[in-house]
Amino acid sequence: MKAALLHEAFRTLPIGTLDDIAPGTALIIAPHPDDESLGCGGFIAEACRNNRPPIIVIATDGSASHPNSRLWPPQRLAARRERETYAATAKLGLPASRLIFLRLPDTKAPTQGPAFDYAVITLAHIARDHACQTILVPWRHDPHCDHEAVWLMGLALRAQTGLALRAYPVWGWTRAPEEELDDPPPTGWRLPIEAHLPAKKAAIAAHESQTGHLIQDDPTGFTLPPTLLTPMLRPYEVFLTP
Ligand SMILES: [Zn+2]
Repeated sequence: MKAALLHEAFRTLPIGTLDDIAPGTALIIAPHPDDESLGCGGFIAEACRNNRPPIIVIATDGSASHPNSRLWPPQRLAARRERETYAATAKLGLPASRLIFLRLPDTKAPTQGPAFDYAVITLAHIARDHACQTILVPWRHDPHCDHEAVWLMGLALRAQTGLALRAYPVWGWTRAPEEELDDPPPTGWRLPIEAHLPAKKAAIAAHESQTGHLIQDDPTGFTLPPTLLTPMLRPYEVFLTP
């Protein structure tokens, strides 16, 4: 299907409840510090309000967003991005004890081999320890290598644990309309998040290293673009059943 048709199908998915989308405790796996707020910020706020806070695993350390910054070398940036994620998820109502960092290398999350297997086993332990029933990972057509890696981890985790799998689009919303994507018509739900939009905006803004206000000495560094923020700030979030 062309990306334009997939996006249109996303926008018209039926409205679902938290129970439709993720019965029990959810395990949200985010490729980078910020994807949890961008793709699932409303979901996290809604789940916390219902006294069922998810477990959030941030897969990579986010250290590669500003490779030319002298003031923010990778180690300092990685530490900063963890602090930003604590601040962001606190705005969504998440207790700090529900946040876990795998610290895989940014842009180099494994897609196969021993490092991949180790990551999946670690995730399976986390899911078991917290009695998670549903796994949330990025959509398979998010055009970023780490997002693809986490999608593959989700598939492997489902095969190992038998848990339900859901996919949330982040960068997939920025696919060019005419792009042909190998995907069947999507199924899933939209979760209404209008009540949580102020908290979601605050959570995204808490990732200051990604919004262009913090790191001034790397003009080639990453800044969240309006083409991504527009779909992320709609009054609903999309969760697919792959
Ligand atoms: Zn990401």
